[in-house]
Amino acid sequence: MACIGLFGGTFNPVHHGHVAAAHAALDALSLDRLLFIPSGHPPLKGDAGLVPGNHRAEMLRLAVGDDPRFAVCTYEIERKGPSYTVDTVRQIATEMERGTELIFLLGSDCADRLDRWKGMDEIRSLARFAIISRDGADLTPLPQEMFRVPMGPVAVSSTLLRDALADGTDVQDWIAAPVLAYLRAHDLYTRPRSYV
Ligand code: ATP
Repeated sequence: MACIGLFGGTFNPVHHGHVAAAHAALDALSLDRLLFIPSGHPPLKGDAGLVPGNHRAEMLRLAVGDDPRFAVCTYEIERKGPSYTVDTVRQIATEMERGTELIFLLGSDCADRLDRWKGMDEIRSLARFAIISRDGADLTPLPQEMFRVPMGPVAVSSTLLRDALADGTDVQDWIAAPVLAYLRAHDLYTRPRSYV
């Protein structure tokens, strides 16, 4: 039975922490594939400071290169209105072969916000959750039905990157070279909130 990981986020922009988390999930859960799902209009975070979805999707493609285990799913950036995970998981579930197992991946910093998600019962009926340890977080207290993905800390966030890019600070330790070239070529994140 195929097992597919669904990794949602804003990826604004994608950085080494995201890619390391994806690799950790592939290994820990023996996933066959992992879909990165950039959010179109994140209901909890809002759109402030979010560069257009086509840019974020393209940076994700550049970050994962030609590894066939990874793909970028653009459903949320194509859909109008708030990007509810329940709509995305439902759409993916209808397209998968029968018997495919779906696992929704989440960094541990997002785990305590799950009770605010729309359609949680339906999501749970279609996919299981796996929580990835971010910044060395202890996963022991999580509910038993959740998978746990251990991962060494990769101390970077997109917020940190956006601030560094706006300040002109060097970011090459945190971001793949083709992603950095892309965002420079498209003049993304150069000035505080110039991309709103
Ligand atoms: P921002 O700083 O803009 O809030 P972010 O860096 O937290 O962004 P998101 O796009 O919100 O990145 O994250 C997508 C997913 O990746 C989330 O589940 C998040 O927990 C996880 N993630 C982000 N950065 C890391 C990291 N450094 N290590 C492990 N997981 C991470």
